[in-house]
Amino acid sequence: MTIHTTYSLKNYNSFAIDACAERFVEVFSLDDLSAVLRENHPKMLILGGGSNMLFTGDYPGFVVKIGILGKDIIQETDTDIILKIGAGESWHSLVTYCVENDYAGIENLGLIPGTVGAAPIQNIGAYGVELKDVFESLEYVDSRTHDLKTLTKDDCQFGYRDSIFKHQLRGNAIITSVSIRLKKSKIPEHTSYKDVQSELAIQNVTTPTIRDVFDAVCAIRKRKLPDPIEIGNAGSFFKNPTISHAQFLDLLLLHPEIPHYSQSNSDEKIPAAWLIEQCGWKGKRLGEVGVHPNQALVLVNYGGAKGSEIIDLAYEIQASVLEKFSIKLEMEVNIIQ
Ligand SMILES: Cc1cc2nc3c(=O)[nH]c(=O)nc-3n(C[C@H](O)[C@H](O)[C@H](O)COP(=O)(O)OP(=O)(O)OC[C@H]3O[C@@H](n4cnc5c(N)ncnc54)[C@H](O)[C@@H]3O)c2cc1C
Repeated sequence: MTIHTTYSLKNYNSFAIDACAERFVEVFSLDDLSAVLRENHPKMLILGGGSNMLFTGDYPGFVVKIGILGKDIIQETDTDIILKIGAGESWHSLVTYCVENDYAGIENLGLIPGTVGAAPIQNIGAYGVELKDVFESLEYVDSRTHDLKTLTKDDCQFGYRDSIFKHQLRGNAIITSVSIRLKKSKIPEHTSYKDVQSELAIQNVTTPTIRDVFDAVCAIRKRKLPDPIEIGNAGSFFKNPTISHAQFLDLLLLHPEIPHYSQSNSDEKIPAAWLIEQCGWKGKRLGEVGVHPNQALVLVNYGGAKGSEIIDLAYEIQASVLEKFSIKLEMEVNIIQ
């Protein structure tokens, strides 16, 4: 492994922000990671694929990119398989591998950028499936004690774009591998999501295989989401907010058309994209930053933008949604200062 100083992160974040790390290293093994931790650097950032991060300026610390690879079958029965995957593996490549081998469970999560090790951080999800639905366990190195530890699904406290890694273990857990349990089957379990059903109908597929669902999800995503290779972005910038039923009824009087998804505890989830669009932000461009014309949840770098310009835009959007709807939008993207 090579330690670099004053290293540009432009190619390591999907917003393509040209921020510099004071020091940068990619680790390929637990031994590499131990060696880096022994340096006891006071400020450290763990980096996967950089597809859920916004650098607001240069990073005055040590950026450690996780490049630990590997894919092992650790348990197999007639019906199930448990795979243990190195944290540095590409998530989309893992999904492709599973579809090719008839391992069912994550086909709805195709084309989500980033690494396997980052997937538990926000319990990645799309098209009716979340990581937690297949999650078995993970291993992490505690950056304070340098011990290798294991967490089960319950330990991880997964929620909507949430986990223990955003709370008690924030900044202290370096995930080195993730284990998932999949079905040995061609038959998908989650096809009820409206967009997936419509896409399958367009393709004239009546009894879909996991390959059909994967293809449908990839086709939808390619149409709907800007490709970070062409235009810098980090996917959904904000989470969909959940509000109480009482607040929802108040809003309904003012905005009878407000879309909502009732939750099991009677709270209501409101699409953040709708709220942002209602505030007039969709398609708006301010210099080199803007809100994507087809996807109001996606903030973009049209080229050469600074991270501080994107965060300023995010604050403006938050303020206008708060003013119009009394809803505080929470950021999904990790803001790095
Ligand atoms: C076009 C686009 C579409 C997207 N669509 C979706 C979607 O549908 N669903 C969804 O959930 N997300 C989506 N995302 C967000 C993103 O892909 C996921 O959050 C992904 O898991 C981030 O992976 P990463 O490796 O790039 O993480 P990074 O951006 O590198 O890191 C994200 C966070 O995880 C931490 N981290 C990374 N690796 C580790 C590790 N090994 N151990 C400990 N901490 C770590 C980082 O410190 C940071 O806090 C999308 C992003 C883009 C650009």
